[in-house]
Amino acid sequence: MNNNWSVSAIGRRLTERCDALAVFSESTDALTRVYLSKQHRAAHQQVAQWMIGAGMRIWHDAVGNVCGRYEGVRAGAPALLLGSHLDTVRNAGKYDGMLGVITAIELVARLHENNQRLPFAIEVVGFADEEGTRFGSTLLGSRGLTGQWQDDWLKLCDVNGVSLAQALEQFGLPVSAISRAARSAQDFIGYLEVHIEQGPQLEAAQLAVGVVTAINGAKRLNFTINGQAGHAGTVPMAQRQDALVAASELVLAIETIARARNVVATVGQISCKPGAVNVICAQVHMSLDIRAADDRQRDQALTDILARAAQISEKRRVQISEACFYQSDATPCDVTLQHYLQSACDKVQGQSLSLASGAGHDAMAIAQLCPVGMLFVRCAGGISHHPGEAVLSDDLGLAFLVLDDAVRQLAESPISG
Ligand SMILES: [Zn+2]
Repeated sequence: MNNNWSVSAIGRRLTERCDALAVFSESTDALTRVYLSKQHRAAHQQVAQWMIGAGMRIWHDAVGNVCGRYEGVRAGAPALLLGSHLDTVRNAGKYDGMLGVITAIELVARLHENNQRLPFAIEVVGFADEEGTRFGSTLLGSRGLTGQWQDDWLKLCDVNGVSLAQALEQFGLPVSAISRAARSAQDFIGYLEVHIEQGPQLEAAQLAVGVVTAINGAKRLNFTINGQAGHAGTVPMAQRQDALVAASELVLAIETIARARNVVATVGQISCKPGAVNVICAQVHMSLDIRAADDRQRDQALTDILARAAQISEKRRVQISEACFYQSDATPCDVTLQHYLQSACDKVQGQSLSLASGAGHDAMAIAQLCPVGMLFVRCAGGISHHPGEAVLSDDLGLAFLVLDDAVRQLAESPISG
């Protein structure tokens, strides 16, 4: 193997590029890059430069994704799509999303360097929004590409009251042209995404990479709890309709039910009004995120939670209402793509491990268009969505070799059926 192909050389190069992208951030002390921001534009320009350097033709699509194409033996052939997202949560790590885009560009760069063409084209995409940090709705970039974009999202507003429609226009993306981002199923033979695991399983197994079997389904709801404000000094405890105490009971019930039903459920946002030290809380807004590998299991847990909410509402004389604002069903990964990734893992790291993804990914949206596969990379302590996110440079090198091998297997024997 030539030196350029050594695990450490590849790992170093991928690490350097993740570091370079982390500079495009709202603030210097924490990495935050949200959809349709100045930093979005700057990061995408950098990625486009790397794509051009790798011999790709590039464009920015109508919802702000950055795309590159490297033709196969026959120009205009359907493409294998590779990529991930370039946006981040607030105070993020450097690898979530970016790693998948950078690894994909590196793969094309090496084909280009060796003047190699495959039986299919390769397209690399850096999705502009996966996390939903700015407008609260996730996968805006990938759902733009698959034609699943919904016009009612345009009314969603960020914390400053800027609507998605306004933000798109300000970014130079006319709302009337959004549908042009949609691609068709005939354009792609499949999609592969490299992503950090964001969990502890690979580390526990002492493996650099693992193959994803399915992405768990999720639902997100907002609860509103209406009680009665009152003087903190004069209203006796027994006569209170305290919305925050009711919310607290519901949060604990959610934890108990999630454990019993073997799902994961999280209340990550809560706010209360009027929010004064000497006033009984009149209203609470709180979120719920609930996920499982099996949609029925998730929905059973949610039914239990809503039944418990009704009991709490009656007991505490508060009104509890809820609205589901996000739903994704579990997404199985393609069996052939899993097989190619597994056999590549066997070659590169001596064994293969299969695992389900607890986090959502762009592959969920792309599965509407074509077969999808995902490769997970070990991250330290399973920590993600946090500046402490860390990977071993050599693990990135191994992930690259696995991806490269899987793509070459695909070139020899495409997905059938
Ligand atoms: Zn991600």
